[in-house]
Amino acid sequence: GAEIRLDGVTKTYRGQKTPAVDNISLTIPAGEIAMFVGPSGCGKTTTLKMINRLIEPTSGTISIGGEDIRAKKVDELRRTIGYVIQGGSLFPHMSVAKNIAIVPKLLGWNSDRIKARVDELLDLVGLDPSKYRGRYPRELSGGQQQRIGVARGLAADPPVILMDEPFGAVDPITRQRLQDELLSIQRELRKTIVCVTHDIDEAIKMGDRVLILQEGAHIAQYDTPEVVLSS
Ligand code: ADP
Ligand code: ADP
Repeated sequence: GAEIRLDGVTKTYRGQKTPAVDNISLTIPAGEIAMFVGPSGCGKTTTLKMINRLIEPTSGTISIGGEDIRAKKVDELRRTIGYVIQGGSLFPHMSVAKNIAIVPKLLGWNSDRIKARVDELLDLVGLDPSKYRGRYPRELSGGQQQRIGVARGLAADPPVILMDEPFGAVDPITRQRLQDELLSIQRELRKTIVCVTHDIDEAIKMGDRVLILQEGAHIAQYDTPEVVLSS
């Protein structure tokens, strides 16, 4: 993994009076899972998207592995950061293999390398490669689509993974299985993971640290989920 650091990061959307993210500073150490919990609209997704450069901060600095993300080329950022969102957000017209291979393709990997990597990832998320690589998203259950989304996020072996309610739409039993799979992947690969969730139990189960956010992404509690549980 690589350390993620935010220094005085603010984002005010165009036409808005109050910032969605208001002067946030935080550090997520390399190899840890940080869980962001907080009410809808408090700035969680905006924060993730800034780390990804899907959104530019209005002010402040974000660095990964000690380097300002503005200094990185887009290709390099894609290799550094995997992004997983609710439901997997797979492209419906692309097979499972093609969906997983998006970033490796962008990075110019050759087809043998891509094929081997796709099969390896399908094994990793518990889906038989020979059975699933040629399927289309509509032929998969919600839980399976979500797993493909995780595989896609891991495809180019990025040191950092951002997850935005990755298991939100998944039934409770599949959710538990996906959480367990992700934790075992994490134990093996030591990625730095930032994961947004609504689910306090998930945050406590998954997180090395739990950040409870309030409006403007202000950090109300850090590392102390038991305080939240008793309040
Ligand atoms: P969360 O992920 O915690 O639900 P968001 O980061 O999506 O919160 O949103 C934070 C705030 O920014 C909210 O008040 C939301 O309405 C606002 N917001 C989000 N995206 C935009 C946008 N594209 N334009 C204007 N305001 C936005
Ligand atoms: P999960 O536990 O991952 O949610 P399900 O119990 O929903 O899985 O699905 C069980 C099996 O049914 C899986 O092997 C899946 O591939 C298959 N399946 C689910 N939905 C469809 C579909 N729309 N078309 C074809 N097969 C499907």
